[in-house]
Amino acid sequence: MSQYDHIQQSAYLANMQLPKLGLVLFTFGNVSAADRSLGMFAIKPSGVPYEDLSPAKMVIVDFDGKTVQGTLRPSSDTQTHAVLYKQWTNIGCIVHTHSVYATAWAQSLRSIPVFGTTHADHTTVDIPCAPPMRDEMISGNYEYETGFQIINELKDKGLSYEEIEMILVGNHAPFTWGKTPEKAVYNSAVLESIAQMALLTEQINANAPRLKATLIKKHFERKHGPDSYYGQ
Ligand SMILES: [Zn+2]
Repeated sequence: MSQYDHIQQSAYLANMQLPKLGLVLFTFGNVSAADRSLGMFAIKPSGVPYEDLSPAKMVIVDFDGKTVQGTLRPSSDTQTHAVLYKQWTNIGCIVHTHSVYATAWAQSLRSIPVFGTTHADHTTVDIPCAPPMRDEMISGNYEYETGFQIINELKDKGLSYEEIEMILVGNHAPFTWGKTPEKAVYNSAVLESIAQMALLTEQINANAPRLKATLIKKHFERKHGPDSYYGQ
């Protein structure tokens, strides 16, 4: 027993959801779960196949990216997770995948337009795509800078991380987050579905219009507003 058992367990369970939901291939992707009072998070070890994972293999890292417990190397994206936990004080979990449709939009360097009510139920804006990193950021601490690439894109667009819990990193792939592991994993699956629908929408009608402002507002508010009543 250690004081980190609970975050190792939740990080393990959340990681195991990714292959089940069809969001990862081989060892792609990683989930971390944080305990804010301890100032620590548990994250998937690097390069270990999902079927060989166990709660005890989750590596414990602090918000400065320093490993404090674990014999395996933490995920290569650990510094990105650490930056986001440090800067965004209200998140409890981060998910990174290379899910096919969301990654295809990221590689196309395009934000995902809000075409329909599925998208609007979750967020009122286009899913942002952060522009590719500048060369000096790439040659510096790449994973650490990826965290700032995400933070800066939301800042530039005037968005709060509590309003929108998903982003595409240009040329790379999506990151999602949430207060709980359940919500952050849910956001990854929802993003993948929205990305697939948006691609098909543009294939069927290259001039498909964005959802009307009145419908965006209606759908978001019925799920998130003070008088929310949504539930399917
Ligand atoms: Zn990646």
